[in-house]
Amino acid sequence: MVLWIATGNEKKKLEILALLHGLPVTLKTLKDLGRPFEVIEDQPDFEGNAVKKARSLFDLTGGWCLADDSGLEVDMLDGAPGVYSARYAGEPPDDRKNNQKLIQAIAGAQAPSARFRCCIALAGPGGVFTAHGSVEGTLTHPERGTGGFGYDPLFIPDGYTQTFAELGSGIKNTLSHRARALASIRPVLLRVLSGEPA
Ligand code: IMP
Repeated sequence: MVLWIATGNEKKKLEILALLHGLPVTLKTLKDLGRPFEVIEDQPDFEGNAVKKARSLFDLTGGWCLADDSGLEVDMLDGAPGVYSARYAGEPPDDRKNNQKLIQAIAGAQAPSARFRCCIALAGPGGVFTAHGSVEGTLTHPERGTGGFGYDPLFIPDGYTQTFAELGSGIKNTLSHRARALASIRPVLLRVLSGEPA
C-alpha cells in the first residue's frame, strides 16, 4: 500500500517521514509525482488548508494522501501569525524574515505565550479524515539553536528551558504539534491501509 505525503517543505517532510517510520506502507513524496504540485492555501483555518492539500493530491494520484497544515499562534498578537505563518513576512516564504518580524512584534514582552498547531488530513478512496495536535510554550529572542525549521529557534515548549531548535528532532518529535496530530491519526491510517473501513 502506498501513502503519498503532500508537502513540498523539505524539513516538514523529513519530520513526517520520521514520525511515520515503521508503518507497513511505502511512503511517496512529491518528488515521486514527477510533475508540479501547487495548492493555493486560501482556507481560513489549518483544517481547511490541510484537507485541500490532501484532496488535491488524491485527485492526482488516486491513492491515500496525507497533508499537514500548521503554524504558530501568539496570544499577545491575537493568534497571529496563525494560518499565515509561512508567509508572515510576505512572499516568497522566508523563515529568517518571518522570525525577524516576529521578534519585532513581541519586543519588550516577557516570555509571551504561544502554541504550535497542526492539522493532519488523510484523503483517499474511503473519504477524508482529520486529526489535530498542539503544543503550548513561550517565545524567546534572539534565535537560539540550529535544529528544526521555521519558528523553532524562538519557541520554548512548556516544561523545557531550551527552544525546539536547541532540543533537536529526537525530543521535538516526542512532543510537537505534528507528532501529536500524527499519533492521533495513526489508528485511522492503519485501518484504511489494511483495507478495513475507518
Ligand atoms: P504550511 O506549509 O502552510 O503549513 O506552513 C507552516 C508554517 O508554520 C511553516 O512555514 C513555519 O513557519 C510554521 N511552522 C509549522 N510547523 C512548525 C514547526 O514545527 N516548527 C517551526 N515552525 C513551524
